[in-house]
Amino acid sequence: MTAALASSWTLTMRYARQAANHFWYAVEDRSPGLLPERMAGVFLAALGRLASGGDDPAGRAALLAVLGRAYRQHRLLPHQRTIEAALTATVARHLPWTPELAAMWDRAAGQASAAVAGAAERAGDGPAWWPAEVIEHHRAGEGVAILTVRPWRRLPFQPGQAVPVSTERWPGRWRWYSPANAPRPDGTLEFHVRAVAAVSRALVHAVRPGDLLWLGPPGDAGLRLDPTCGADLLLAAGGTGLAPLRALVEQVAAAPARRRVTLIVGARTFTDLYDAISLDRLQRAHDWLTIVPALSHDVSAPPGGAGRRPHARPVPLHARTGGLRVRSVGHACLGRPPAARRRPARRPAPPRP
Ligand SMILES: Cc1cc2nc3c(=O)[nH]c(=O)nc-3n(C[C@H](O)[C@H](O)[C@H](O)COP(=O)(O)OP(=O)(O)OC[C@H]3O[C@@H](n4cnc5c(N)ncnc54)[C@H](O)[C@@H]3O)c2cc1C
Repeated sequence: MTAALASSWTLTMRYARQAANHFWYAVEDRSPGLLPERMAGVFLAALGRLASGGDDPAGRAALLAVLGRAYRQHRLLPHQRTIEAALTATVARHLPWTPELAAMWDRAAGQASAAVAGAAERAGDGPAWWPAEVIEHHRAGEGVAILTVRPWRRLPFQPGQAVPVSTERWPGRWRWYSPANAPRPDGTLEFHVRAVAAVSRALVHAVRPGDLLWLGPPGDAGLRLDPTCGADLLLAAGGTGLAPLRALVEQVAAAPARRRVTLIVGARTFTDLYDAISLDRLQRAHDWLTIVPALSHDVSAPPGGAGRRPHARPVPLHARTGGLRVRSVGHACLGRPPAARRRPARRPAPPRP
């Protein structure tokens, strides 16, 4: 990202509504009926963000998943030059324009367009995004919120997938979040968000019930269960990595054939187990489920084996992993046998759009 691209885009987004209008009319002048007017704001914000850069690879993958779908849904591929020109013209309208900026935006718009063309080929069919109303916002722990959202139209997703999410407070920034539930009859989804920086802080500290979010097409995060496989499951979660694993537990609960599931939930202390009430409810409801809190800084736990560093409460599972399907997500500080001790499990790689 060059600083000039980023700052010119930030300036343009200060007038987001006018910019969306200008962009839509610029497209409409050249190719009438191409883009629905109601889509212009979200579309422009995403395309401008992609062109001006600033996201990590996962954030960029989320943008491409959304834009790839939008290009496919509205058959925009043959009109790429129109869209690139409209993007550049929109930025030009909002700041002192120079030949250098014009050349930079021409190039950036072309590169963004090429990336989206590739994503559109890989994207499946369906809507590019789903408006969703926040119906509950619960500050579940230090820097963590549980948001329940109701999409205006049902969002089809599988437990273990992740969904690109964007808030109007940061237009154009799309981030992956994993639904913490299996699909529900009322179509609602629950997200567990830890405040890190821009988008997640807004979701935790600023978003309120009644606010609108945008959800993009769900993507695989390497966590989906094979419904034909009945092997027992060992799931290990740290922090909000619990979300997709709780969704998998709910999926097992809804399936006709039961498999034994052990869910290890890593946290520093008991009060950091931000979803304890739902976990307790699940544990009480299902005798095939064993939930094991692994607390790294719990004063009542026996001391760890490696000197002064605090360790999770030992969990006697390492001897039983043969024949189990194992999934782990998040920064779990889980007890492991010394030979197997390694770096904490990371989130899976971002889904390929
Ligand atoms: C498949 C997938 C599923 C995800 N599911 C969830 C989820 O259910 N709940 C959830 O809270 N988050 C989840 N994330 C992370 C989420 O997508 C965002 O990356 C995170 O919320 C930060 O976004 P941001 O806009 O606040 O910060 P950004 O502006 O994107 O990030 C600022 C900086 O912080 C770094 N960063 C990102 N995440 C972390 C972190 N956890 N700890 C330390 N540094 C970090 C980034 O690399 C970047 O350098 C998931 C990510 C992926 C790839």
